[in-house]
Amino acid sequence: MPKTLPLAKQIKELQEKLAWYEERELELREREARLQMAVDAIKFGTWDYHPLTGELSWSDECKKIYGFTGDTEINMKVFSEHIYPADYDFVNNEIQKAMDPAGEGNYDIAYRITRFDNAGVRWIRAKGKVYFNEKKQAERFIGTVTDITDTKTAEEKNAKLAAIVDSSDDAIVSKTLEGIITSWNQSAERTFGYTAEEMIGQSILKIIPPDRHHEEVEILSKLRRGERMEHFETRRMKKNGEQLDVSLTISPMRDSQNNIIGLSKIARDITEKKQEEVRKNDFIAMVSHELKTPLTSLRSYIQVLLVKAGDDEEPFKINALKRADIQTKKMAAMIQDFLNLAKLEEGKISLNKTRFDLDELIKEITDDAQYFTSAHTIKTETHPGVIIEADRDKIGQVLMNLVSNAIKYSPRGGEIIVGFEQKDNNVEIYVIDNGVGINPVDQKNLFKRFYRVKNEEIRTISGFGIGLYLVAEIMRYHNSEIKVKSEEGVGSRFSFQLPII
Ligand code: ADP
Repeated sequence: MPKTLPLAKQIKELQEKLAWYEERELELREREARLQMAVDAIKFGTWDYHPLTGELSWSDECKKIYGFTGDTEINMKVFSEHIYPADYDFVNNEIQKAMDPAGEGNYDIAYRITRFDNAGVRWIRAKGKVYFNEKKQAERFIGTVTDITDTKTAEEKNAKLAAIVDSSDDAIVSKTLEGIITSWNQSAERTFGYTAEEMIGQSILKIIPPDRHHEEVEILSKLRRGERMEHFETRRMKKNGEQLDVSLTISPMRDSQNNIIGLSKIARDITEKKQEEVRKNDFIAMVSHELKTPLTSLRSYIQVLLVKAGDDEEPFKINALKRADIQTKKMAAMIQDFLNLAKLEEGKISLNKTRFDLDELIKEITDDAQYFTSAHTIKTETHPGVIIEADRDKIGQVLMNLVSNAIKYSPRGGEIIVGFEQKDNNVEIYVIDNGVGINPVDQKNLFKRFYRVKNEEIRTISGFGIGLYLVAEIMRYHNSEIKVKSEEGVGSRFSFQLPII
């Protein structure tokens, strides 16, 4: 007789088995829920295709990616119609390849779709796996899709930027805030002779001449504060030790939280331009020098004639000689400006400081200037006894340039005031006119070399745009600064400060 378990025991065993299955089912459900959560979180759409029956189903997220809202049934035909035409053959091929029983059944491609809701073309990435039955038929093909348009667009943007950087004629380099090079374009390779492999990871000091290493410290601290540097002219060193004149533009690079994460630097080789400038300066200096000699002799003849002209001389002749004297003086001043410009550009200017009475200098200059014009009145607001230490000739030139401009850019009958006032331990020297005035934009550029204001009113007034540049440079050599306050149609006030002894 077969031994049977007592009924109670059989029931107990069955109950235990049931409990075990229930537990497993619970575990499975939990696992499935967790998986679903993960799929939802990373915005994966899932799809399930049964090649033997032709059935295709999409998850809600998958429908969202495709912009599918309709009630129409999803099938392979509808799916195919929404593959971007240019990508259709590629996608079809990849599906066929995955379903080939000779292969592994893997599928992983990126392609474009045209969304159902006409919201344009999107890039998606589809990944999947084909399962084969015993007859080696593709029975089930399941997988995921994600919208990768943003990544693709960013990739395309990066590729475009990289192409621009690489085709640039300027050397473009990026570095960390510590000065370690992180990128080095092709033009940097050509300009400095080092390859990207040689430079990435190295310190930027490698291309900075040793006597300019301090510059890098200043550049880094400026950029760390978030400032930008534009057209900073300096010298850099090539691999073969040769030095180059470069113009640098350096800007901070920021992450999405606006933190500065590094610096980008554009270097333009301006060696040619610099050499051209040197040639031009040499030429200006030479021409000015050659003009000076005959002019000096012309001036002495005029002055001798003026002295010799007695009271019985025709007033017209005396007047003509005076005018000739004024014009030759003006010409001499212009030539002197050119010579000073050339000296300045070559860095050959030096100060010869002495102590002198400011009142006396101002009187000399205003007397000279008044000689040039009878159509303007030049007044002084000075008093004796203010002693300053500066290069008397150069401060004289500054004042002469300012007063000549005040005359040039004021209408006939205008009044010009030259004076000074004490400000703590300094004296502020000013030249005021009630002439045409200067607009705020031009005020910012006035002191640049060769800068001239372009407006109808002063179109006929001749000049070279170097007077104020020289003024600014001479003041810079004196550790001071030329300032301007001006209003169009009202007049201008140019001023600078020097310390009182
Ligand atoms: P230049 O007088 O030879 O043109 P400057 O360098 O002396 O060169 O002056 C630059 C420009 O600044 C002038 O072209 C003129 O437009 C403007 N400027 C200078 N001084 C005055 C002034 N006192 N009033 C109005 N404009 C002035």
